[in-house]
Amino acid sequence: MTTGPVKLRPEILALPAYRQGLAAPEGFKLSSNENPFDPLPGVLEAVDAASRRLHRYPDAAAPEITARLAAEWGVEPDEVIVAAGSVALLMQFTLAAAGHGDEVVYSWRSFEVYPWMTVLPGATKVAVPNTADHRHDLDAMAAAVTDRTRLVLVCSPNNPTSTAVTAAEFEGFMAKVPADVLVVLDEAYAEFVTDPAAVNGRTLVGRYPNLVVLRTFSKAYGLAGLRLGYGIGPAEILAAARTTSVPLSLTDHAQMAGLASLDRADELRARVADIAARRDAVYEALLEQGWSSIPRPHGNFVWFPTGERSAEALEIFRRHGIVARAYLPDGIRLTIGEAESVENVLAASDEIARAFG
Ligand code: PMP
Repeated sequence: MTTGPVKLRPEILALPAYRQGLAAPEGFKLSSNENPFDPLPGVLEAVDAASRRLHRYPDAAAPEITARLAAEWGVEPDEVIVAAGSVALLMQFTLAAAGHGDEVVYSWRSFEVYPWMTVLPGATKVAVPNTADHRHDLDAMAAAVTDRTRLVLVCSPNNPTSTAVTAAEFEGFMAKVPADVLVVLDEAYAEFVTDPAAVNGRTLVGRYPNLVVLRTFSKAYGLAGLRLGYGIGPAEILAAARTTSVPLSLTDHAQMAGLASLDRADELRARVADIAARRDAVYEALLEQGWSSIPRPHGNFVWFPTGERSAEALEIFRRHGIVARAYLPDGIRLTIGEAESVENVLAASDEIARAFG
């Protein structure tokens, strides 16, 4: 019998653990793209009702929320998949599509989970650099597709740069990607988009045999703590992704809270419009401060391309009571949060602009 350390997969040991945005001991937590509003009316009651069934397993088929989303999107229930957050779905689609020797193409910088979830099943990362103005380079992404590519991830608005892919760009891209390669359009921040030229998964559903659109209740709906995300796409692809899920991980609480939130579409729209208007006002103020390098934001967050000086900039935000998130060595992502945070944000950004020239 041999002795020694337990043999674990070297590629897993080499991975950094998932990093969460920092909490704010005091001041404003603008580090996780969360929603500053309380849950929508009816949500707490729905969660309370679900709590009475805590001794039971949740209904894994999630029939009510699935049927409701199918109706909202004008698709069949088997064209909807729900899970404990869209990050769970990203993992499920990766497991369903890509294994050892297969390639996963995504832009960089983009959502930090993409490289991580590519490594888990032993697939190969193909990170395509963003353009100089922090946007997806869809031509380069299409050109990076080989006969080993099994999955392409497009993130619009892109976390962390807040740039959006246009509908025309996306359709041109889809025309170039072979129909046997799965494309996942991650639209976690779609509700905040106001630019009519931006891609919108709602207009794409049913048009491509290889496209899945991902949405979440974590951002606009403010249910980050409950974990509820969904995907819309062809039934056969979703069926494969269902088999790679962690069984029973989607709680009744999340399902019921999602339904209650969908009942409050008007309030949701008003809240989203409020945040989008604040985002645009902050962006205009930043331009006046001389921040011409900041890309126009489409999500509920702004990207400061502070490069090598990002740690310094983060510290200036912190001194102004703002916890933002650094993506070293590229920049800082700042969530648009409470109205009361704006004054501090702009005081900090002004100081950084002056300090950095
Ligand atoms: N996609 C993107 C682009 C994100 O930024 C996030 C959250 N940070 C997610 C997916 C995952 O969201 P959730 O798992 O909370 O639905």
